Amino acid sequence: MPLLRGEEAIICEWLSWTLKFWGSMPTMPFRDVVGHVRLIDLLSRSVAGSSIPPSLLFAGPAGVGKHLTALAVAQALNCIQDSGLRAEGLGLRAQGSGLDACGTCAVCRRIARGVHPDVLLVAPGDSGAIKIDQVRDIVDRAAYRPFEGRRRVVIIDEADALAYPAQNALLKTLEEPPSLSVFILVTSRPDMLLPTVLSRCPQLRFRPLSADDIAAALMARGHNETEARAVAATADGSLGQALQASAGELVESRDIAQRVLAHAAAQSDPARRIDSAKELLAKIAGGASDREQLATHLRAMAVLIRDVAVLATRADARTLANPDVRPALERLTDAYHGERGTRAFAAVDRALFALQRNAGVKLVADWLVLQL
Ligand SMILES: [Zn+2]
Repeated sequence: MPLLRGEEAIICEWLSWTLKFWGSMPTMPFRDVVGHVRLIDLLSRSVAGSSIPPSLLFAGPAGVGKHLTALAVAQALNCIQDSGLRAEGLGLRAQGSGLDACGTCAVCRRIARGVHPDVLLVAPGDSGAIKIDQVRDIVDRAAYRPFEGRRRVVIIDEADALAYPAQNALLKTLEEPPSLSVFILVTSRPDMLLPTVLSRCPQLRFRPLSADDIAAALMARGHNETEARAVAATADGSLGQALQASAGELVESRDIAQRVLAHAAAQSDPARRIDSAKELLAKIAGGASDREQLATHLRAMAVLIRDVAVLATRADARTLANPDVRPALERLTDAYHGERGTRAFAAVDRALFALQRNAGVKLVADWLVLQL
């Protein structure tokens, strides 16, 4: 029965792929969080010392690991592996006295998959808001003892989407938290929360990630170094943004930006310079994505100009966002050192601003190449 054998083969392939996929999935404990070493150290020591506050606010830009850190807290509080071994496993941390989850036991895995009954995840619904009914529901559930874990953890993602009545409904619980529950509010816009809510939640500020951290995380996920560096350089400190970006396109953007800078450096005749604007517009198809595509080229250009300034001023070369193209950057230092570099950077910045304000893509590209 050849058909059956075919199906079997497909199922086997699917199974092995699935196993490989799950095997490579991040398991979420503290040690898997990229960057934020001091915050992670603080949290892991709070877990070890049973001094984790009953309510916390994780604030910081999108895509830097706030949600993953909240899951790691939930795992560290509930992991069922021997805690002595776990503390040893965390020896890499600065103080060495913290506690981390194993990441592999049944509890850790269920928390990572979002299906543990004592780890409640709340997020905005289709309306974009977190409604008062959602808050009432978790407040009710948090009042009981955990079903099976040691601590119940309520993670409210995009907490800025809590409507004011919903925030007020949460307030009383934050004031008098149930003894075995921990509330973690996650937001990139803490200013949208009521002062009364903010004052009840100690705030941990997550900063943008360094380009090095992002590149290392991408390489750990299988990107080659060139791709990883190019993506990291334009990811604005957000691993989330870097993971969404198409590496191939970003490498291409950086190549284009590099060629346009080199062309402008070699060509003083304005009529010929305009030619290089065509590079920036090469794949423009006449849609809304054109603006985003040109913006991507320009962001890559801004980072290249910044790197050229690092080389020209003999600043610490370890701060280069694009160290893999250093020889090409060196060739640009003659043209773009000092005032011209500053002017070029400001022009790219203005061009990006103009794109945001709906200026035409061709107009912006033509204007920019004359300013470089
Ligand atoms: Zn575990």
